[in-house]
Amino acid sequence: MSRIVRINGALVEARPLPGVALFEVARVGEAGLLAEVIRIEGDKATLQVYEETAGLRLGDPVTPSGSGLVARLGPGLLGAILDGVGRPLRRVAEIAGDFVRAGAWAETIDPSRRFLFRPALKPGARVQGGDVLGSVEERPGVGHLILVPPRVQGVLASLQEAERGPADAVGALEDGTPLPLVQQWLVREPRPVARRLLATQPLITGQRVFDLLFPVAEGGTVAVPGGFGTGKTVIEQSLAKHADADVVVFVGCGERGNEMAEALSDFARLPDPRTGRPLLERTVLIVNTSNMPVPAREASIYLGLTIAEYFRDQGKRVAVMADSISRWAEALREMGSRLREMPSEEGYPVYLGSRLGKLMERAGRVEALGSPSRNGSVTLFCAVSPPGGDFSEPVTQAALRVAGALWALDAGLAHQRQFPAVDAETSYSYDAGALLPWFAAHVDARWGEVRLDLMRLLERDREVREIASLVGSEALQDVDRLVLEAARVAREAVLGQHAFDENDAHSPPQKTYRLAALACALHRAGLEGLKSGGAFERLRLAPALSAIAALPRAPAAEEERIAALAAAAVAAVEKPGEAR
Ligand code: ADP
Ligand code: MG
Repeated sequence: MSRIVRINGALVEARPLPGVALFEVARVGEAGLLAEVIRIEGDKATLQVYEETAGLRLGDPVTPSGSGLVARLGPGLLGAILDGVGRPLRRVAEIAGDFVRAGAWAETIDPSRRFLFRPALKPGARVQGGDVLGSVEERPGVGHLILVPPRVQGVLASLQEAERGPADAVGALEDGTPLPLVQQWLVREPRPVARRLLATQPLITGQRVFDLLFPVAEGGTVAVPGGFGTGKTVIEQSLAKHADADVVVFVGCGERGNEMAEALSDFARLPDPRTGRPLLERTVLIVNTSNMPVPAREASIYLGLTIAEYFRDQGKRVAVMADSISRWAEALREMGSRLREMPSEEGYPVYLGSRLGKLMERAGRVEALGSPSRNGSVTLFCAVSPPGGDFSEPVTQAALRVAGALWALDAGLAHQRQFPAVDAETSYSYDAGALLPWFAAHVDARWGEVRLDLMRLLERDREVREIASLVGSEALQDVDRLVLEAARVAREAVLGQHAFDENDAHSPPQKTYRLAALACALHRAGLEGLKSGGAFERLRLAPALSAIAALPRAPAAEEERIAALAAAAVAAVEKPGEAR
């Protein structure tokens, strides 16, 4: 029997543990706390314990499970609220009382649930990993494909229409291999795919500043760094609500513990703006409660990605939000220091960058294994919370090196209540160029042109404001005064967006384009007016500015009318003769 020989916070050392594998799960102590092997030296192993270790004593037993940490994947996941190792918070609370009792286990998917399995194949068929065996209705109107697990193949011996529970098989192969309703998969291992596909279509976020300036491809990765209060959580919630994804996996890696779980489950109960059904029905929430120690944060993100890959394999577009990977990195740092590893910058382990890179590689747009053919994607949004909002710190820098896009949030903008507080000068998207043809084909042929015009206007605005701060705004030339006015409406009405206004919270690409085009047209009309001899004071800017500013919050039914008014006001800008 293996016993604990040393306890160091969330880490324990045990021996003898012959033949134990790295990342193998074990039960520790009389209560059977969940733990994972993170280092092996001879017959001694170091384990990180996912639960409160206060009750452990030297000499307590350690029992390896023979397997790594696995995710349970099947119907019943949607709407689940899980902790970092896959226990449903509510049911664990029912079993163990209000506090999650250490060692308590509850199955990820409620064992009492039953689903009517409808086969798509007949016995005798040859199948392989990823093939669609059939489907169940997970919720009314929501289908869920049951797939042959990766790496399994053979000839179907049985497959029947029947009510099945999470522990049941839906059929079996001729060699006796059962085909389960609920698959198990090691969370640290990416699920295999047939092939990876190029990023050619955007994941529409419904947020103007992102879709227009810094779009993310389906299957892309975004780092969202910002100091406290800059709007990271609001952005992730807006994405969860409005981004064009079929399934949303939200991983709260320990930002605020229990409060977080509360806030998120309340949030998820809101209606889905697209279907009117509760948002929770297409969401999986993974949150670490504050009484779970740091290692569970580390696991939670792998669990989230595994669940995301599982829905991807069904051909769905999945968005994963991690809030925040700084907390995940801190867990790595804490474990590293307890292992007395050689630290790198600011105490983070030297492998911080490569671990983060591996996480991001699990995003992507893919052709799933098996037939019939299905394409799916996992798009990953990582909030980063740099201490003091200083982007030069190691986690932000590591995230920047591996993410495909940067949405940099700025404390100054948040302070001015310019939301989303995206610093357009620092932010970028490597996907933007590849996505232009999609926007041109699906929204407007002039999308790229308008985007460029708007970017130039913002750039010129920065220059002019710098000049103005030196010489005073009275000394500016008329063209520059015009830039300030046009850019202000671009920043406030085009890039700015109210997350809590029912009409503005979600901006379809068509509305985004319309607003951007109006701001650019206003600038152009003003220039024409100045060119034909009018002075800045004679331009009729005010009505056009206020008409554009009214458009973001216009109810959908009023949008056409208000847009037409704005267009008319813009056309009138250069008409000389009348005073403003
Ligand atoms: P962080 O997660 O970065 O600490 P939050 O997402 O909690 O910051 O945002 C802090 C506050 O900023 C919110 O409570 C809200 O009042 C405001 N805020 C952020 N984004 C928006 C937005 N898009 N629209 C309106 N208010 C916002
Ligand atoms: Mg937050």
